[in-house]
Amino acid sequence: MTPTLAPPVRELVLIGGGHSHVQVLKRLAMAPPPGIRTTVIARESHTPYSGMLPGHIAGHYTFDQIHIDLGPLAQAAGARFIADEVSGLDPDGQTIQLLDHPDFRYDVVSINCGATPGFSGVEIDTGVVPVKPIGRFLPHWNAIRTSSESRLRSGESVHIAIVGGGAGGVELALAVHFVLGGIGDLRVTLATASERLLAGHNQRVQTHFEQLFASRGIRVERNFDVRRVAGGRLESTTDESIDADEVFWVTGVEAPEWPRRSGLAVNEQGFILVDDFLRSTSHDTVFSTGDVAGVTDQLRPKSGVFAVRQGPALADNLIRTLEGRRLRRFRAQTRFLSLISEGGRVATASRGDWFATGAWVWRWKDWIDRRFMRRFQELPDMVTAAPTVAPALQDDLPDSMRCGGCGSKLGADMLTRVLRKLPTTAHPDVDVGIGDDAALLKGNGSQIVISVDSFRSMIDDPYLFGRIATHHSLNDIFAMGAQPVAALAIVTVQLMAEQLMEDDLYLLMRGAVDVLNEQGVALAGGHSSEGAETSLGFAVTGSLVDKPMTKGGLRDGDVLLLTKPLGTGVLLAANMVGKARSQCIAAAVNCMDQSNAKAAQIIRAHGAAGCTDVTGFGLLGHLGEMLRAAKLSARLDVSAIPHLQGALELFDAGEASSLQANNEQIFADCRFEGCSPTESRVRVLADPQTAGGLLAGVDAAGADACLRALLDAGFSAAAIGKIDVRDDQHQAYLQLLG
Ligand SMILES: Cc1cc2nc3c(=O)[nH]c(=O)nc-3n(C[C@H](O)[C@H](O)[C@H](O)COP(=O)(O)OP(=O)(O)OC[C@H]3O[C@@H](n4cnc5c(N)ncnc54)[C@H](O)[C@@H]3O)c2cc1C
Repeated sequence: MTPTLAPPVRELVLIGGGHSHVQVLKRLAMAPPPGIRTTVIARESHTPYSGMLPGHIAGHYTFDQIHIDLGPLAQAAGARFIADEVSGLDPDGQTIQLLDHPDFRYDVVSINCGATPGFSGVEIDTGVVPVKPIGRFLPHWNAIRTSSESRLRSGESVHIAIVGGGAGGVELALAVHFVLGGIGDLRVTLATASERLLAGHNQRVQTHFEQLFASRGIRVERNFDVRRVAGGRLESTTDESIDADEVFWVTGVEAPEWPRRSGLAVNEQGFILVDDFLRSTSHDTVFSTGDVAGVTDQLRPKSGVFAVRQGPALADNLIRTLEGRRLRRFRAQTRFLSLISEGGRVATASRGDWFATGAWVWRWKDWIDRRFMRRFQELPDMVTAAPTVAPALQDDLPDSMRCGGCGSKLGADMLTRVLRKLPTTAHPDVDVGIGDDAALLKGNGSQIVISVDSFRSMIDDPYLFGRIATHHSLNDIFAMGAQPVAALAIVTVQLMAEQLMEDDLYLLMRGAVDVLNEQGVALAGGHSSEGAETSLGFAVTGSLVDKPMTKGGLRDGDVLLLTKPLGTGVLLAANMVGKARSQCIAAAVNCMDQSNAKAAQIIRAHGAAGCTDVTGFGLLGHLGEMLRAAKLSARLDVSAIPHLQGALELFDAGEASSLQANNEQIFADCRFEGCSPTESRVRVLADPQTAGGLLAGVDAAGADACLRALLDAGFSAAAIGKIDVRDDQHQAYLQLLG
């Protein structure tokens, strides 16, 4: 008999996907600790490996080669990934504040969010591009490289200044020179406040790089302490100046501001003070590593090397803390090897007094860097956690015998606490709402429309899942041209320790209530229970004043408009097995989190009579329903049908939703011209959609204006085909033109 897995009883939150946290995740993927749920919150879904950044700038590595995609890594670790920026922490209340989510509670938190560029004491007007955070630097660099290349090719000169004479600045100057120097009249200047390049390295290393800069014609401005930057002009404290087209900022880093504000113990510069166990000196449920941390008596330069070294000790200590075991001491090495690249495939090694240079050093560095990255890019299948939890966690385990029926309802206290926190609003048509046996609505003479929808969670983020499930449930009402009035929730929360269930219930319902409030809909009641998986849905009641838009309302000659791109089914299916890129999932989530309310208004205002929302049967399945009801046929222009980034590539790679095969049975009713049912761009037409777009028929005379209004309102809408009279001689009522 397979032992039942231990349900989670403690919440570990990792803030930032820095060099230590990727190792914590890898460790969790190899040996998941039972009873612990992990959530990673990071501003960017892709963590850059800084050691390979100069190689990327110089063109030796692609974006994917130098980045770790946190989504699949978190997936392999059995962790939830939340894409957001942390803006504050309450270490006494054990909650984290985020920019676009409600607060997150934690039992233990670890902060490895790096540092920010060091601008203090410098007056900045415009025109500086900081290299950190790297995720924000790269889009700037791509734009600057493209414009510089075209200016150099047309004979203009380009001057790039780099501020900072440490390893980062030196490598960046050489990489920029390597990639743009051969095209035309490029000037590169490096400004450093120090007397020499690479202060902190041995003299042979310094001399080598100073000679290298001289031989490449890269100017070095020594003792240049920048006081002011305005529109590309750098001014020093001694009134010297440098005029450049672009200024890259690669100086020492500063602490982000929120840890200091939070009441955590920080050093004079604002870096989080941690002891030899990497634990905050003021709060023992807080850990921190990497650039944002300052280990009290082990002062070291801010460098990725230390964050990497801290990773295994951090992973150990986080688990030991959660399990109530003794912690392990961490000691940073005092001397460490630096491998500094020189633009081309040559590098220099520096360690203490040792110096070596050559192509072999670059190959050595390349081998080390690629080996490091492979650990996070080639992921193991997740190992199952052991069924028993550590003794310290056993008291919080839910009873192993759980009741079904009404006994599976969530506790009244938990529900009351969550409802009290939710910012619910009233609706004038709801006379009696939450709290009574049933909701009481006023009819007000309008027609009533009712609909129900519910599904299990398909993303890690409970707040966003709450939002998406709510949009999905409201869509049926919008598709009829009605206005939702009241919603009854049907919510199931995965069985865990009571506190974790309450956390999840709050986040789910907070997402739901935020969407309901945005649409002016009252939460009038609901039913909640515990279960094997989290799910959420709503029975929604709406009012309709005019004639409804219906599936059978399509007319001969109508132009078919679709308000959202397709592909959520294949993307979510691939995400569940760690095969989708986080950036594609983020785009799909944004698309699902867009309400169809405005689209329905626009479509209706342009005279549509036939409309539906595209959901589980896919575009063709729902269009088929409309055509059968209206006894008409349709011609679709396959190349005009929008799809989400990454969806077609996933079909090509063999991924598909479990509903795909069923949905593709509609291909038997289609005639294909210039395309075939095996092509990804055709298969996506049968892809099941979550919170999908509206599909509507608009009279040909008004279709262009309707499409323009949809695009202006921010929908990725398209005109995808036309409705025809049905030719009964002809079997196929759906023609797909490639
Ligand atoms: C050009 C250049 C080259 C370098 N080369 C090297 C080198 O060869 N070797 C070396 O050892 N060091 C190098 N460094 C230094 C190195 O970049 C840093 O020391 C290292 O990145 C610090 O790692 P970290 O783990 O502390 O955080 P980071 O790697 O900076 O990771 C921070 C993480 O936190 C997330 N994050 C940040 N703020 C928030 C927030 N508020 N909320 C949520 N998430 C957040 C980010 O999205 C990211 O996932 C280089 C630096 C530069 C600029």
